[in-house]
Amino acid sequence: MRLICAWVMITIALASMHAQENSMPESTATRPQLSWMDASSTKLDRELIGKYGEAQRARLERGLHQVAEFWRPEDGDAAAYEEFVSANFASDQATLDTTFNRFERLLEQLGGHMHEINREFRQQMDLDLGPVLPFDEMFGGYDPSAHVIDDFFQNKLAFVVLLNFPLTTLDGRLKEGPIWTRRQWAEVRLAQRFSKRIPADVNLAIGQAEAAAARYVAEYNIWMHHLIDENGQRLFPPKMRLLSHWNLRDEIKADYADKQDGLAKQRMIQQVMERIVTQTIPAVVVNNPNVDWNPFTNEAKLAAVKDSDSPVAASMNISSAREPDTRYATLQKDFLASKKADPYSPTTPTLIARRFDEDREIPEARVKAMLDQVLTSPLVPQIAKLIESRLGRPLEPFDIWYNGFRPDSKYSESELDAIVAKKYPTAEAYQRDIPNLLVKLGFSPERAQYVAQHIVIEPARGSGHAMGAEMRAEKVHLRTRVEKTGMNYKGFNIAVHEMGHNVEQTFSLNDVDHTLLKGVPNTAFTEALAFVFQGRDLQLLGLPAPDAKSEAEKTLNDFWTTYEIAGVGLVDTAVWHWMYDHPQATPSQLNAATLQIAKDIWSRYYAPVFHQRDVVLLAVYSHMIDSFLYLPDYSIGHLIAAQIEEQTKKAGAIGPEFERMAKLGDVTPDLWMENATGKPVGPDALLEATKRALSRVP
Ligand SMILES: [Zn+2]
Repeated sequence: MRLICAWVMITIALASMHAQENSMPESTATRPQLSWMDASSTKLDRELIGKYGEAQRARLERGLHQVAEFWRPEDGDAAAYEEFVSANFASDQATLDTTFNRFERLLEQLGGHMHEINREFRQQMDLDLGPVLPFDEMFGGYDPSAHVIDDFFQNKLAFVVLLNFPLTTLDGRLKEGPIWTRRQWAEVRLAQRFSKRIPADVNLAIGQAEAAAARYVAEYNIWMHHLIDENGQRLFPPKMRLLSHWNLRDEIKADYADKQDGLAKQRMIQQVMERIVTQTIPAVVVNNPNVDWNPFTNEAKLAAVKDSDSPVAASMNISSAREPDTRYATLQKDFLASKKADPYSPTTPTLIARRFDEDREIPEARVKAMLDQVLTSPLVPQIAKLIESRLGRPLEPFDIWYNGFRPDSKYSESELDAIVAKKYPTAEAYQRDIPNLLVKLGFSPERAQYVAQHIVIEPARGSGHAMGAEMRAEKVHLRTRVEKTGMNYKGFNIAVHEMGHNVEQTFSLNDVDHTLLKGVPNTAFTEALAFVFQGRDLQLLGLPAPDAKSEAEKTLNDFWTTYEIAGVGLVDTAVWHWMYDHPQATPSQLNAATLQIAKDIWSRYYAPVFHQRDVVLLAVYSHMIDSFLYLPDYSIGHLIAAQIEEQTKKAGAIGPEFERMAKLGDVTPDLWMENATGKPVGPDALLEATKRALSRVP
């Protein structure tokens, strides 16, 4: 599942200020109140309305309020403030137009060139160009745009924007957005870039918490050969080291194919996951190949076999002493750091509000309602029965990761490899074929040429990714992997997905009406558009499209994945609410609360088909620890993907419809989806498709 393409995330973050959270501050608890501010503002109000007329009153008063909200003592005294406002208020439409146009053009240049520097600095790491030296990683880790927002407040360009363009709330964008002109939307996005001024020490604290959480997660491995069952058997092969939770989950999926030991392995991994979540896991077994562990009895002892070079630490004290709630202490540090930004975000004064109202731009209540609709769908018990009949046993909790819905392939992977290698012996061969591929997807020859000219192909060091551009003078980059023996099928499948990103990136930058509206509302949209391409990879090879049954299997898989991750998103959200409600809690209290939340959500939505209550498995996702309330995005992503897929199917030829959607720009997700499909974001498309799929699968 490539729902989130790391590269897209980076590119979007690199639109630097785009990622800034937005709000309309009303008052700021810890912001120093400037004693002269009210008097100065009243004086400016009187003077400037006298000079420019009553018609400017509303704009002027809004601008004064917005500037005052962010002005700090170091920005200047009353005289400096008054001089700044008098000089920079755009007093007529012509000046306002000029201001808007110039900011739009120059910010495109800024973002574009910053992105260009970043792309160049990462080149050695990203492309297959020989060894990476240590300093290459330093170049790659450098973000030249990191301090742009601070700089723009210091040089007062941010205040020019705040004086002349409106800050908005999500509520306002949802209610009024549909009737705004595109220029109004572009002004709103312009102002949003400067809607927060978080002090450097707060950003630093958040960055440190993120880094600590990332380290904790990255080193949380389980050495599988050292898991012992009640008979002293080792079910997993030597050297197998699995990172929690991703690799553990993927091993559960892979174990469905192991007819002999699969079930025992899956039950054992579930037990390991539960030990991690409850923190009853012996601290000594984490990331340690020198200890054997029975996760059922929880007994730990010196490893009887060796499958790594890792030396036994002299200080290693083997016992069943549990991990001391480090998981929850880490999560709590995320919370305490995030909370420091709250006073600088008055209309979204919690991380929860910032995630839903600013990053997602879908209110929390609506997200919850959508997830509830999936989780309580009458389709759930029907699909659960189908899975049970395929497995020949009742569902067990780890079957939330059931992966048996698979399209049949008429071709084996090696047959496909041969077809692809013959067609694309080199990256150049693929590049030459891009216009042809796009025509097969329904683009006119002319549009296909146009897009192809905007794509540069390069050899990826990894499996491949798409790197967009941030200004129209730049091209987008398709990084793909071609072996010496030619491209293989997996590489082709990824290249087609990434090409989907590139096509979207080209239209949504070059053909959107305002560069301030470039892009799509969020990653879920760009991924959904890329999946439209990826799902047609066989047709692009000139092979028959998957048949109705294969399509149905794919849809059922999408549904089951969405069902699983929806509960995970609800747990993540509820845990953040609990932390805000109990800011003084200890890690062990947070542990207990998380377990209760996970059990409640399980018992409500999963127990009816899994025949077991109070399971804690939903809390195992590592994103809960290192991603700051990111998990609800996955399920919304699936819903969005189903809506976009349905729309492209309805349209017949993909090309023109894809182009139309890719040009809608960065408005709210609901407005984008209304314009694209006639309906706001929601689960209906997925549920309808699932219902149809069920009728086609035996
Ligand atoms: Zn992607």
